[in-house]
Amino acid sequence: MSAAQRASRIRLPPLPSIKDVIRLYKLRALRELSQNFLMEPRLIDKIVRAAGNIQNNVVCEVGPGPGGITRSIIQQAPRKVILVEKDPRFLPTLELLADACKDKVDVDIITGDILRTDIAHFIPQDVKVGWNDPPPPVNLIGNLPFSVSTILIIRWLEAISRQEGPWTFGRVRMTLTFQKEVAERMSAPILDKQRCRLSVMCQNWCNVKYKFDIPGAAFLPKPEVDVGVVTLTPLKQPIIKLPFKLVEKVVRQIFSMRQKYSIRGAQTLFPEEIREEMALKMYNIADLDPVTRPFQITNYEFRRLCEAYKTIVTENPDLEKYDYRAPKKKLVTENIDDEIM
Ligand code: SAM
Repeated sequence: MSAAQRASRIRLPPLPSIKDVIRLYKLRALRELSQNFLMEPRLIDKIVRAAGNIQNNVVCEVGPGPGGITRSIIQQAPRKVILVEKDPRFLPTLELLADACKDKVDVDIITGDILRTDIAHFIPQDVKVGWNDPPPPVNLIGNLPFSVSTILIIRWLEAISRQEGPWTFGRVRMTLTFQKEVAERMSAPILDKQRCRLSVMCQNWCNVKYKFDIPGAAFLPKPEVDVGVVTLTPLKQPIIKLPFKLVEKVVRQIFSMRQKYSIRGAQTLFPEEIREEMALKMYNIADLDPVTRPFQITNYEFRRLCEAYKTIVTENPDLEKYDYRAPKKKLVTENIDDEIM
């Protein structure tokens, strides 16, 4: 279907309201999948508008559920919509929607877990642009459960760092919802009380924008927290041009003692016997004051710290294997939220 054949806005045939869809298909929200449905059309449209102009774009929506956001996406006349939904109960209502717009928009419905789905496989090759070009006509949009969206963003940052998955098509933009506090952390500048590892990681690979809040009361059932909508656009060049895992390790350890002098956290990058000496060496190479606190360090200073760590482990390759958390690993993986904040 050519762009000219698509109207500038698609008018869907009359469909039952999302509230009625939920009632008709008996789509009781499942607590185990943290399902909270966004019921207010005004806020739904606002999320889609936050993604920018999506007309003629390929839009991948993660966790469409009963399809409220999906309807709003389709009305913007995208070229193709890719839906990834884990809960098969939503299939009939999503198929109904796909059928309602079948002459105007291609809709792929994938029943599966976004953490295991290769989205790139469903994106047409002809949208591919170079990494330094303006972003391609591809958008990732999602109102996912908080537990999934936080893990997903870390996975996606790693994929961005390697220009893999959807990012083989160029600097694909994302519009995602998070627990308000997490959204604030992702976008927190230095000195902000929310500045943490997630801020440094997100801002190292992306331009992060906190767009707006959605009160918990706008969802059914109402979650205990409010929601923040964030857009992320991959940067042409990351600030720290080093492998994801190395950056993650250095930044994690430095933030492991958030209120202390940052060198205290940096010491935990090294075995106990040489900890103080090596951390001091790292700060000397980086030319950074050891009494700086983690939330005062800019991403450019983190770059110097990561490069200094790289210099040290290149001289002593065994040091790179040192993992302060190794004996406590089981505990850490059990509490994934603490792990990535
Ligand atoms: N997009 C809908 C809305 O805004 O009303 C539903 C939002 S609800 C918070 C999250 C949706 O993500 C649910 O439909 C849930 O089944 C789905 N979901 C949960 N985990 C998922 C996963 N790992 N992969 C894909 N979808 C998932």
